[in-house]
Amino acid sequence: MASNPLGIHALVWVGGWTPEEAEVAISSSARIGYDLIEIPALDPSRIDVVSTREMLERHGLQASVSLGLAPGTDINSEDVECVNRGRDVLMAALEVSRGVGSRYLGGVIFGAMTKYSAPTTERARANSVAVMKDFAQEARSCGTTIGLEFVNRYESNLLNTAQQTLDYLDLVGEDNVVVHADVYHMNIEETDFRTPILVCGDRLGYVHVGESHRGYLGTGSVNFPEFFGALREVGYAGPITFESFSSSVVDPLLSNTLAIWRNLWSDSTDLATQALAFMRAGLAED
Ligand code: MN
Repeated sequence: MASNPLGIHALVWVGGWTPEEAEVAISSSARIGYDLIEIPALDPSRIDVVSTREMLERHGLQASVSLGLAPGTDINSEDVECVNRGRDVLMAALEVSRGVGSRYLGGVIFGAMTKYSAPTTERARANSVAVMKDFAQEARSCGTTIGLEFVNRYESNLLNTAQQTLDYLDLVGEDNVVVHADVYHMNIEETDFRTPILVCGDRLGYVHVGESHRGYLGTGSVNFPEFFGALREVGYAGPITFESFSSSVVDPLLSNTLAIWRNLWSDSTDLATQALAFMRAGLAED
């Protein structure tokens, strides 16, 4: 039996992070049997670090922190002021991550999470790499791993595939930066679900599991047997976090960016329970 920490994105439960919302998300995840909750920190200032950490410890749950940069804080830009604002957001998110006791911070942190109207440029890419190198060094000083989540073409013009992410990692040159693979995005951009995982090998450090329509696992077009098989093949032992979004739980900062227009589920507990069983079964198969 694989021992990957199994996680769930907070937006399965709540659209914000008031202490009341945090208590619902953390206690519900722990009760169902998850090991980890992923807390979105698009606005790091809305997370109360002290109470969040207390709740996580009380419920015996690990945490990871994720975010996507906004067009106004894009480090994949030629605008130096914009790049500097992005650096500030990343450093604030790292402070939150450290404060809640997370050892992982990832997401679309190499640039804005948005639909770009043009390809990236050499200068914008170089700005992103330079900030990421500084950020990785800062993260290392507090024992934090940085994950780069490559996403589909409508959400980034910089990293859409595993290979692009590995090439970017080589430019950054810091060993606490890993590839974050999300099967939802792989379904759109990759040739299959096995090759990119083998290409990443031990540089894969975080995984998102999501269905092609972002709803119940196993009801869309993602080839999960192939994907879980590839994770087993490379001996992946890191976190695997379930991500799903519905218009029944809305985060104003995140849901519109991800184009969550439809109601794919309304019962968070049923969804989360099914997903945990689905992941365990997928990892256990021969
Ligand atoms: Mn994801």
